[in-house]
Amino acid sequence: MPPVTATFRFYEELNDFLAPPLRRREISCVCARAATTKHMIEALGVPHTEVELILVNGESVGFDRVLEEGDRVAVYPKFEALDITPMLRVRPAPLRVIRFVADAHLGGLAHLLRLAGFDTLYDNHYADEEIEALAAAEGRIVLSRDRELLKRRTITHGCYVRALKPQEQLREIVGRLDLIRSLRPFRLCLTCNVPLRSLERSEALGRVPDGVFERQTRFVTCDVCKRIFWEGSHWSRMRALVDSLARDRNAQ
Ligand SMILES: [Zn+2]
Repeated sequence: MPPVTATFRFYEELNDFLAPPLRRREISCVCARAATTKHMIEALGVPHTEVELILVNGESVGFDRVLEEGDRVAVYPKFEALDITPMLRVRPAPLRVIRFVADAHLGGLAHLLRLAGFDTLYDNHYADEEIEALAAAEGRIVLSRDRELLKRRTITHGCYVRALKPQEQLREIVGRLDLIRSLRPFRLCLTCNVPLRSLERSEALGRVPDGVFERQTRFVTCDVCKRIFWEGSHWSRMRALVDSLARDRNAQ
């Protein structure tokens, strides 16, 4: 089979991944023998996890479509406003439970996602292979600023995180995955990533500072680290962050 030439056009923010001369225009590419859409899209620099829809000659195809001579390939990111669900071919199904695994550089974001109630695995010693395995075994969305990690074949759901600061990263992920209605702040222990359990007030006696016990009525605990939490000033700051995400959404 001789090599074939296909034309590619990437839309919206997918252009950020391309070399500058290739952005926002048609790219003519000589494709290797039996190259698939996934192979060529990633060869051009775009991780497949960022792609929501591929049209070849106007028809929705999957990542395994082998390219043929003269194919015209249009590659789209997640659509914000347009419901394209019936057209989607690239992934069999969306994930029903939103769970994350964050790469080693996203500790701040992982912490904020737990705060917002999302089960998020994070360890700054995770190797890429471990992240890939966890994502596959537990149906987790991989969060990374490393596009090479997101190109790994078994990672089906991932997000390239553009923002640099944790609060902005949280805003980005909540917006992109439309999570505002799924926020469950103070559901998880920020250290252990497991659900918190409410505690009888009497059980907190002697285990929290006396002043705190007198002022507070609600206590929760983590069954892993055994720590007790209450609605202090830290809690208020967190609440403000979560409320600001909700306001962003309403302002749209
Ligand atoms: Zn804990």
